[in-house]
Amino acid sequence: MDQRSTPRAEDLLSWYDRYRRDLPWRAPPGVQPDPYRVWLSEIMLQQTTVAAVGPRFEAFLCRFPTVASLAAAPWEEVARAWAGLGYYARARHLHAAAKVVAAQGRFPEDAAGLRALPGVGEYTAAAIAAIAFGRPEVPLDGNVERILARLFAVEEPLPGAKPRLRALARRVGEQEAAKARPGDFAQGLFDLGAMVCTPRRPGCALCPWRGACAAHRAGLAEQLPRKAERKARPQRFGVVFWLEDAAGRVLLRRRPPAGLLGGMLELPGTPWREAPWQEEEALAHAPARTRWSGAGTVRHVFTHFALDLAVRVGRVAQIGEGLALPRDEVLGAGLPGVMVKAAGAALSSAAVAEEARGRASA
Ligand code: SF4
Repeated sequence: MDQRSTPRAEDLLSWYDRYRRDLPWRAPPGVQPDPYRVWLSEIMLQQTTVAAVGPRFEAFLCRFPTVASLAAAPWEEVARAWAGLGYYARARHLHAAAKVVAAQGRFPEDAAGLRALPGVGEYTAAAIAAIAFGRPEVPLDGNVERILARLFAVEEPLPGAKPRLRALARRVGEQEAAKARPGDFAQGLFDLGAMVCTPRRPGCALCPWRGACAAHRAGLAEQLPRKAERKARPQRFGVVFWLEDAAGRVLLRRRPPAGLLGGMLELPGTPWREAPWQEEEALAHAPARTRWSGAGTVRHVFTHFALDLAVRVGRVAQIGEGLALPRDEVLGAGLPGVMVKAAGAALSSAAVAEEARGRASA
């Protein structure tokens, strides 16, 4: 390696020893990390910020303190504990992986073995292998990609630049100091990306690698990494029905186990499609024949599309079949975010509010 372009692992590790973030899932210095905590945090952190995961991580651990307790729990409880974190396939995979680990009696200890667990991709396997088991892996997430693209002034846009960045990650991770402390090296990269080499206005003056950074030298830091232009997010439409009976119970249903929001509770409704629904065709999906009033439209943005969900409220004397919950318990039942929005719109609609007032004064 050319000396001037070598970001020395020792420099990052000294910086990490001094400035590391104190995060709930991290073991204190010198203490062997618990693979369950490392795995759980890495799954939660997929597509969710550190700030959002922090309190949820502690609550989840209180409810499921060991991988065996998670494996033994019914899916409904896991879904409930996960509600609000989004990307619900993660929870299904988490539950399935816990069962595999509990049956095997331990976590696999290398990246290849970890990758065989449901929900564990290349990045997550490398992160767990490095942090929990001290394997010489450099996990490549968005933060690490950004640091490497800047250190080596990679001008090719993402995602095309990924193979080159992967090779650069191997190159920096090959140093003896990195191989001696792979978990700290990986977490040092995460912390550098979060605290110093940030997407906007990187703090190069505080960076332990500024002497080796090609983008800093060239005044390009803020322009890298370059990204290929994104296509516009497609739009979809749906209609959901808030059906309430005279006892104040609301009809819910569980989504099929596979696919988006798989296994989560929802208000019954139409499929989600690219064309808006006409009233008549939407009503063909209504759970009862009754008079339906509009309760507005909520918007939710998923990774691959945006959804406009129209909310209708209606009443029947008694909900016969299906899963019905008292109205006051619906928001706490573990609905995914999009359904919390829809339920909120129904609850604040004039028709439902009036009904609630009538019941309270009866
Ligand atoms: Fe990032 Fe600046 Fe450090 Fe380069 S010098 S790695 S751009 S913070």
